[in-house]
Amino acid sequence: MLLCKICGSSGYSIAYEGAIRLGKFGNTSSENYVLKKCNSCGAIALPSPTQDLSSYYESESYRNEVDDGAEVRDYFKTHDSEQIRNLSITGSSIYRDKVVADIGCGGGSFLDNIRGLAKKAIAIEPSIKFREHLVNNGYVTFPYVIDALSKYENNVDIAVTFSVIEHLDDPLMTLKQIHRLLSSEGKLYLSTPNADDFMLKALPDIYPSFYYRKAHLWYFTPASLSKLLEIAGYNKIKIIPYQRFGLSNFLMWLKDGKPKGDCVSEFVSPVMNSVWKSDLEQKLICDYLYVEASRD
Ligand SMILES: [Zn+2]
Repeated sequence: MLLCKICGSSGYSIAYEGAIRLGKFGNTSSENYVLKKCNSCGAIALPSPTQDLSSYYESESYRNEVDDGAEVRDYFKTHDSEQIRNLSITGSSIYRDKVVADIGCGGGSFLDNIRGLAKKAIAIEPSIKFREHLVNNGYVTFPYVIDALSKYENNVDIAVTFSVIEHLDDPLMTLKQIHRLLSSEGKLYLSTPNADDFMLKALPDIYPSFYYRKAHLWYFTPASLSKLLEIAGYNKIKIIPYQRFGLSNFLMWLKDGKPKGDCVSEFVSPVMNSVWKSDLEQKLICDYLYVEASRD
């Protein structure tokens, strides 16, 4: 009997069975993977890895699999441009004079944007190479949340963790630890891809083997993400839907069967694109989710 790592239930259904993405587009597994969806909390999981993941998270091979390289400059190349999106959700004024922790901060792109506002910026990141860079940049750093607890338990005003929980073997454990890190007025902002992404239903023959990937061990819908945070002890949980990729990306998928990112197309005006994104967000079938949650 297999128990769900999030809610402890044993009933599940098969969410997907087939090849999954190993790295970038085009690199697809030769073997089939079975993704199980918990009948109780709705979380979807890849089979649990047999290895202990901590040494993998700390390694360069993990960074190579997640991004396009293991160097800090590779991280910035991919992630610097995402920070305007994160800030558009949280705003910037909430960080003024606050103790802020970024969990899974990578090379520190997000913290670099708010360090002038924050009273203290805590960088939590398992990658040894990235931590060296973060220390040299003057951040207080820890490899894991559990390591930060002895000094900062009940002391963090704002915790952020962007595109991280889907990579963790045990997201519930980490979210519980972040909950302990937060002060009584403390808030968490989290983001992760949406498992209710309409593309999975619109392009069932070609999109799932791109969407599901070896680096992502968990997949959440708005409902299962709320449930996860509730089980982890959070309150005032608010889902904030966000569509990253534009209508042109969808049209290119239809035409060529491959991703083009948030590209510009002569067929799609900015107004049309904006309406299309808003429509997906309003229906909660957009490609990405943010959550705001309070400790108490
Ligand atoms: Zn469950």
